[in-house]
Formats: sequence, C-alpha cells, structure tokens
Amino acid sequence: MKTANQDIKPITTKINQNGNIEIGGCDLVELANKYGTPLYVFDEATIRSITRSYKDAFKSCKNINMMFAAKAFMTKAVCKIMEQEEFGLDLCSGGEIYTAKSSGFDMSKTLFNGNNKSYDELNYALECGVGTVSVDNFFELALLNDIAKSQNKTVRILLRITPGIECHTHKYIQTGHLDSKFGFDLTRLDEAVELIRDEYSNLNLSGLHAHIGSQIFEKNVYFDEVGVIFKEIKRIKDKYGITLHEVNIGGGLGIKYTEKDTPVSIYEIAETIINSVKIHSDKYEIEEPSIFIEPGRSVVGTAGVTLYTAGSSKQVPKGRKYQAVDGGMSDNARPSLYEAEYTVEIANNPKGEACEKVTIAGKHCESGDILAKDIMLPEIEEGDTICFYTTGAYGYSMSSNYNRVLKSAAVLVNNGNSDIIINRQSYEQLCENDIIPDRLN
Ligand SMILES: *Cc1c(COP(=O)(O)O)cnc(C)c1O
Repeated sequence: MKTANQDIKPITTKINQNGNIEIGGCDLVELANKYGTPLYVFDEATIRSITRSYKDAFKSCKNINMMFAAKAFMTKAVCKIMEQEEFGLDLCSGGEIYTAKSSGFDMSKTLFNGNNKSYDELNYALECGVGTVSVDNFFELALLNDIAKSQNKTVRILLRITPGIECHTHKYIQTGHLDSKFGFDLTRLDEAVELIRDEYSNLNLSGLHAHIGSQIFEKNVYFDEVGVIFKEIKRIKDKYGITLHEVNIGGGLGIKYTEKDTPVSIYEIAETIINSVKIHSDKYEIEEPSIFIEPGRSVVGTAGVTLYTAGSSKQVPKGRKYQAVDGGMSDNARPSLYEAEYTVEIANNPKGEACEKVTIAGKHCESGDILAKDIMLPEIEEGDTICFYTTGAYGYSMSSNYNRVLKSAAVLVNNGNSDIIINRQSYEQLCENDIIPDRLN
C-alpha cells in the first residue's frame, strides 16, 4: 500500500478556485500574506497519515514501539501531536529534552541519543526522567554510571552499536558503516557488556541500538541490520547468560524530494523488518525482543513546505537566470550542505507552463546559497509566492541566523485552519543574548 512519504506533496494539496495551491484547506498565497515569508507550512493531516501508517504497518508485530526522531522537526506542538499519536520521542540534546518536558510529554517514553552527550545533559536527562539512554561509547558509560549513582538511580540503557552496514545515501548521512563516529564497534561490545555487569551497577542494560543512515530507499539494509543485531544478542546470551529484550533499529526511511527519488512504502519496510525479526529469532532461537523504530524525516518531511516571495532576478548574459527569494540557507541548509534537490512550484500560478530554466537563489552573502539549480518553472514575477515542497524535515531544525536573518515562522494547517506553532523571531530576540562589555562603552 502506498504511503504519504512516497509523494512529493502533502496529502491535502490541491489547486483551489482562486487557481492557487492549497494545503490543509488553506490557500498558500493567503498564508504568505497573513504570516509573511519565508514561512514553513505543516499539514497536520499528512503527519498523522504517516504516524498511522507506521502503526498500522507494524500492527502484526507483537511488541513494537514507535519513537519520533525529534531532531527532524521539533516544537512543543509537534510533541503534542506525537503524544496523541502514541509515539515516543528520540531526543539528542538538552534542548530537545527541555522542549519535550516543557510540552508536558511523558518523559518515560523518551530515548536520549548522541555520540557526545555532556555531563550537564546526562544529568538533566536523569533529572527529567528520560526513559532510556542509548549509550554511545566507553567514556559515556563511566560518566552516566557516576551521574546515576549521584542521583541514586538506576538507568535503563541501550548500547549503540556500529553494525557495519552501508546504505546508498549521501556520505554525510550514512551512520552505520564501520568507520563512523557513532556507536560501539562490534569488536568491543563484549568489553562494554562486562563493564556494565561488573562495575556499573547503576546501569541496567536492556538492549541494543543501531541507526544506519538517512534517506534510505533500500529495504534490504534493514533486513541485514536486524540480522547483525540479533546475532549479537544471541552471542551475548550464550556467552554471558544475559538476555537483551529491546532492539532499536533506528530510523532512516526515505522520502520523495523530486521525481528521481523512489522511496519505499512504510508497509514494505515494516514487512521486511517483521520478516527479519521472525527469521532471525527463529534462527538464533531467541525470544522476540521489543522492537523500537525511530523515524524522523519520513514522519514530517512530506508534511512541510516552505513559502518564499520572489524578489530580484538576474539573467547572466549567455548564462543562468537567477531568481532570488527572501530566504535561503538560513531556513534550509540542505542544498548547500548536501546539494539536496527540491520540487518547486509557484503557489499563485501552479498551472502555468514550465517554460523557463531558472536557478532559485537565497538572499545570503554566499555563492553557495542556491536553493534549487536549473529547474523548469513558469516565468516568475516579482511578488510571486514560491513553494518548496518536502522541507518539513531538517529545515527549521537546521536553520540559523546567518547574516542576522530572522528565523522564520511555522504554521500548522488543518481543515482550513492555520495556527502559528513557531513565531517569527523578532529583532529584539535576535539581540537578546548580545552584551556590550562596559569597557567598550
Ligand atoms: C537522525 C536519527 C534518526 C532519524 O533519522 P531519519 O532519517 O530522520 O528517519 C533516528 N535515530 C537516530 C539515532 C538518529 O540519529
């Protein structure tokens, strides 16, 4: 069955009577006028369609737990939606823990991840009652045990392992290959297990965790990953008599940014994973553990679009035509970071004939600040509302104040309603942490 991550546009996208693009029953041109641009627009129906597809696709799996990888897009409103959809949260910084906690999220349903969690962050995580910590390395094992002891607690942990699986995605978003900064090398896993058993009495090892990368289109890597993890579970059981009953296989499912992308359906991924769990638990004669998955991009990516207003343009003699918009690498770092590509439409002219090759440039003082290179669009006029699809994941969350450009607002749309979920930053907020030392006055 097809799922919303396999489409470029949010599920509620249509062209309305005004001839404009509409999402969640809201005219994008009206949204741009009302809230200003750049503007992130999130379609609530698409987010919920994806979370429900995940739950439905895995429903035959006895003990499955969904965690949303919050780093893809996190605000308090998103935490609320995840709570309603019965997803846990996968968090990777003190700031994400704070956001979840202050939204009222049940912290026992959170997992804390990361390859260099600080003392303060771990301390805070335990104070907030984070459910599980995925420990990445030996340094963290010792640190976390000390902190747990000082708080008189026992912490449930997973060990993050490097499964040695490569997936065909951009090298910056591969994480499961052997030469990776994340996780325990399998050759040193036993050492970690022994330390926990013999020395770290405030740590309670409940399972293994891996995450092999992002924007993955192949199913087989998940099949193999489960195999690698189950093999370790079997080995640890035989060697130490320790039963690990949790397996977290990470996130990474791909979405469709342009027609070139061919992401698989959530149902296909689920079938592969369920199948692999079954096959490998039979093969290794272990009881089926609880399975955790933690998708990020695929949950919110397709639901979000970014609106810009067209400004200046420039035709280089015998060269490119550049059309500048009022945002750029500060609200979407992905094109300059990994040459990510997007599908673009003119929200007030979606049906116009795409007769012109144009490069959409941001407004930042950086030549690499190009949002879309050599795409075909109808002729753009100044003031047009330009819509970039699939910007829901790693857009706002990677945004910056480069050039002291203000961070954009985000609205959540549903059934003709639009609600601000992130206010546009103000100039006052931009400078609120700046201090002029007395001696400069
Ligand atoms: C980033 C990350 C995820 C989510 O990855 P997506 O590609 O956004 O689904 C899941 N687990 C871990 C440990 C991560 O670092």
